[in-house]
Amino acid sequence: MRLLLVEDDKALSAEVAEQLERHGFAVDTVFDGVEAAFMGESEPYDAIVLDLGLPELPGLDVLKQWRSKQISTPVLILTARGAWHEKVDGFRAGADDYLSKPFHVEELLARLEALIRRSKGVAAAQIECGGLMLDEAMQRAEQVVGNKKIPVELTGIEFRLLRYMMLQPGRIFSESHLLEHVYDYDSEKESNVIEVYISRLRKKLGKERILTRRGQGYLFNPEKP
Ligand code: CA
Repeated sequence: MRLLLVEDDKALSAEVAEQLERHGFAVDTVFDGVEAAFMGESEPYDAIVLDLGLPELPGLDVLKQWRSKQISTPVLILTARGAWHEKVDGFRAGADDYLSKPFHVEELLARLEALIRRSKGVAAAQIECGGLMLDEAMQRAEQVVGNKKIPVELTGIEFRLLRYMMLQPGRIFSESHLLEHVYDYDSEKESNVIEVYISRLRKKLGKERILTRRGQGYLFNPEKP
């Protein structure tokens, strides 16, 4: 899952980005409204965290601009302006959620995870498909065998990749699409890296969990193999 974090307080931005990355998100950070507007339009984020008080262009205007251009990425406003009428303005401008500073990182994470699940059409509180469950807090998978759950440890990228695919089981993702959603803008991307991680996931979870569609990409098998 890839996030855009728009926050002009650089110390806060670095702290929040680090926490989000530690919890399995790829994060791009921008520090003013103009750059935010541009990045939100041009990169395929799974969610955006938006501060309102920003240099160059206010956050509310950035949000209105995205919505007028049909950018439907879920947006969570994170701001010190927590009065009820400011929240109403935020929602009317197209926000999906609102969190006032100061805040607990756990709450931000829980809200983001819920927002993203919902935007991908997942109603359940946990990502689960075909006898495989994801523990987002522990960043690992659990194979359900009989009435037992067998944990499967995952590396950071394996977890990101699996979580992304499991949110839309049965949907085919190209390698470039997966690259854009598990890595941030600045990271070095080797051309065969997705192939490598898919094969590692198959070794851990069983070959039939992730299927290949030649010339199209990969999909998480919605059927229990
Ligand atoms: Ca600010």
